[in-house]
Amino acid sequence: MNLSLWVGLWLLFVPIISWASFSPPPKPFVVVIDAGHGGKDPGNRGNGYYEKKIALNIALELGKRLAKEKNLRIIYTRKTDVFVDLIERANIANKADADLFISIHCDAHSSQAYGAGTFVLGLHANQRNFEIAKKENSVIFFEENYEQNYDGFDPNNPESVIGLTLMQETYLDQSIAAADAIQKRFVKNLKRKNRTVKQAGFIVLKYTYMPSVLIETGFLTNTKEGAFLNSKKGQDDMAKAIADAIIDYKKNLALTVAEDLQTETDVPSVNKAEERMSSSSVDFRVQIAASQKQVGHQSYNWKGLKGVYSEKQGKVYRYFYGNTTRYSTAKEYLDTAKGKGYSSAFIVAYKNGKKIPLEEAIQ
Ligand SMILES: [Zn+2]
Repeated sequence: MNLSLWVGLWLLFVPIISWASFSPPPKPFVVVIDAGHGGKDPGNRGNGYYEKKIALNIALELGKRLAKEKNLRIIYTRKTDVFVDLIERANIANKADADLFISIHCDAHSSQAYGAGTFVLGLHANQRNFEIAKKENSVIFFEENYEQNYDGFDPNNPESVIGLTLMQETYLDQSIAAADAIQKRFVKNLKRKNRTVKQAGFIVLKYTYMPSVLIETGFLTNTKEGAFLNSKKGQDDMAKAIADAIIDYKKNLALTVAEDLQTETDVPSVNKAEERMSSSSVDFRVQIAASQKQVGHQSYNWKGLKGVYSEKQGKVYRYFYGNTTRYSTAKEYLDTAKGKGYSSAFIVAYKNGKKIPLEEAIQ
């Protein structure tokens, strides 16, 4: 067989063979594990323990357990006792295009409070949640350029937190699902007191572009819980519960995607035609906030913005301003909202009452 014929046949068959026997490896599920504090920032020192050490031990053990899973990649924001800026922790996760960001901490309180809590970014519903976020956020004072890096954010000012919440909006539902999975495992595996999933303005969660969760693994200030968290067994148990939860979350995520695909293929063609015909019914709105808390629509609740309306989706209320079929008008609404102080407001598109990607709507 001459060479060119051989090459020709090879070129003909190789794609068929490889198509038939090797599908491309699926993109790994990337988890960024963030051990809170480190280096010059010890974290809380309840009962003389070091939050930074406990958080790191749990983080490393969690990574070790997850590394055994197929198709899962682990990235740490720190693996040793070093100080890392909060913004840098988010940058590491964003650069890795991670699927999940998990920040690990320990709580402290002047009482004998105990229990594990899991947080997603949002408006704090009460003073206690604000205090937890304030404590964790105050680590930015260890950083050199915190005023520039965090857009003038002031951890001590409850109002300052409001502007934080919108970046994570896109991932809120998934963040809550991940947090919920973690909380369930704490209760199921470890019979820990369920402090439930809560929202608060944690700055480390603001700058990530993926579902993000902060875990307060327990109170170092509580005599029993502090000793548990400072022990090898306690740290291993916590790491195992979190690892199990991440695997639960990943599995459920795969199921949801499969269900979506299922319904899509089930749609009869006539419905598809109807859908195409009504494709003109796209409307644009400016989303200014999202919260698990219901907030009245009166303008005094919204920095003087009139005509704010909301929609409840799942457990979350989304707050909108303006409604128009023209993208150019939506941009004017956006300018108005920003002018009132909603600096991270953004335009969303809806078609037949369902949220669709903005790029699709503009086309
Ligand atoms: Zn902490």
